Amino acid sequence: MPELPEVETVCRGLALKLLGRRLQHVEQRRANLRFPFPEGFAERLTGRRIESIRRRAKYIVIDLDDGNVLLVHLGMSGSMVVNEKRPGLLDRHDHVVFDIDNGTCVRFNDARRFGMMDLVPAASLNDHKLIRGLGLEPLDPAFDGLSLATMLKGRKTSVKLAIMDQRLVVGVGNIYASEALFRAGISPRRRAGTVQGERAQKLAAAIKQVLKDAIKAGGSSLRDYVQANGELGYFQHRWKVYDREGEACRICGGPIKRITQGARSTFYCPHDQR
Ligand SMILES: [Zn+2]
Repeated sequence: MPELPEVETVCRGLALKLLGRRLQHVEQRRANLRFPFPEGFAERLTGRRIESIRRRAKYIVIDLDDGNVLLVHLGMSGSMVVNEKRPGLLDRHDHVVFDIDNGTCVRFNDARRFGMMDLVPAASLNDHKLIRGLGLEPLDPAFDGLSLATMLKGRKTSVKLAIMDQRLVVGVGNIYASEALFRAGISPRRRAGTVQGERAQKLAAAIKQVLKDAIKAGGSSLRDYVQANGELGYFQHRWKVYDREGEACRICGGPIKRITQGARSTFYCPHDQR
């Protein structure tokens, strides 16, 4: 499933190709993805100029020149495939085809159809049912040790589950949660409410760093990405703890331990994480 760094990279890749361009023709090839497309979807997009492309959590937000935004989620398996020209044959999972005014073709391909698209006024985006409950952006300056400490205060759940709670902070998936906690030296089992002060500072910084590192790794493969990004995968394959049960900790050499929290695997070093 595409995570925050992958979605950020898709946004940057699309921006390189599409900013300031017009949607000359939009072909909607089925009635629904995870949800039905909005009424008049293709017609409302046709002729619009793309003003900016940004990200909110794992949503791609494409600002149009009529004050609306095209909201896109890639779901489990969705991708935006960019080609210099429209291919002669479309794939059966190409559900929306955007022909750009310079001949570029962008196809939204999604075999499992857990993705979604909607058209909403930019001014009311924050009230959209999928957006309004979302927590802080981890890469936003407003997310720091202090705001993290405030959101964790009094919480009895484990810190790992708390930082994966999208209502508190968005985009910290299972892998990034394990990696950030290792980097901060905090046990994933620690009660969330006890992560305050310096611990919260360290954890906020670690979350930002693991996400930035992953985006950086993605940026270096951006060229491939916008040519044909059928397979998203994870950019960073050399995890420090994730999927390394029984292997040597990169700090103390002791074995990495695996536990289950909220039905997901957590990996950590019991010696270095308290
Ligand atoms: Zn260790």
